[in-house]
Amino acid sequence: PRLFFVGGNWKCNGTVKSNEELVKLLNDADVPGTDVVEVVVAPAAVHIPQVQASLRKDFSVAAQNCWVKKGGAFTGELSAEMLVDLGLSWVVLGHSERRHVIGEADDFTADKVAYALSQGLGVIYCIGEKLEEREAGNTMSVNARQLKALADKISDWSKIVIAYEPVWAIGTGKAQEVHDEVRKWLADNVSKEVADATRIIYGGSVTAKNCGELATCPDIDGFLVGGASLKPEFVDIIKSAR
Ligand code: 13P
Repeated sequence: PRLFFVGGNWKCNGTVKSNEELVKLLNDADVPGTDVVEVVVAPAAVHIPQVQASLRKDFSVAAQNCWVKKGGAFTGELSAEMLVDLGLSWVVLGHSERRHVIGEADDFTADKVAYALSQGLGVIYCIGEKLEEREAGNTMSVNARQLKALADKISDWSKIVIAYEPVWAIGTGKAQEVHDEVRKWLADNVSKEVADATRIIYGGSVTAKNCGELATCPDIDGFLVGGASLKPEFVDIIKSAR
């Protein structure tokens, strides 16, 4: 029932030329249809129009971030309205690099999601504990805290994809465990319907090598791929959809 979702987060990478090459690679790739996999790539904001104009139409383009409310005097930001005006349907919010490198708080992130939804965008909402939090036994309390921050502010989850991104969990079998716990949290704290319908995707060192096994986990509904989304192996990751 949950359509497999593969996101490519290009982060702060790319040139006009390298994007041309990457888009050509994606455009030429033979991948399963939109009934099997939803593919979304998130270039740097400045490259969005280039990628939008050249990328195959069965893939979508996302922004990596947006401002917390209506645009205006907020130098350096880009607003949800701008993304909608460009025709985008997705934005990544709450990425760990924004939470932990740039310092965006749970509440601020949840406000961003609520505002982006109000403007009609779909949101790839990233959650995940840091290694030291995991080592202290706080994996699910951190994820629950990040989910609750959002659950307190939204009621419609139909345009949310949850991306669980703990780098440590790769290849340990732990990813499925946490995905299962995240789904249970939704069932207990939001509703059974939302828990069943919401795609929970995995991110953190996903590669062509490990995607096949991860994709067989019942609660892993796709991937959010960083480094490997800039390489030909992204096509292999798309093909792991099931
Ligand atoms: P990597 O796939 O490079 O580990 O990045 C994961 C990520 O942060 C995707 O948003």
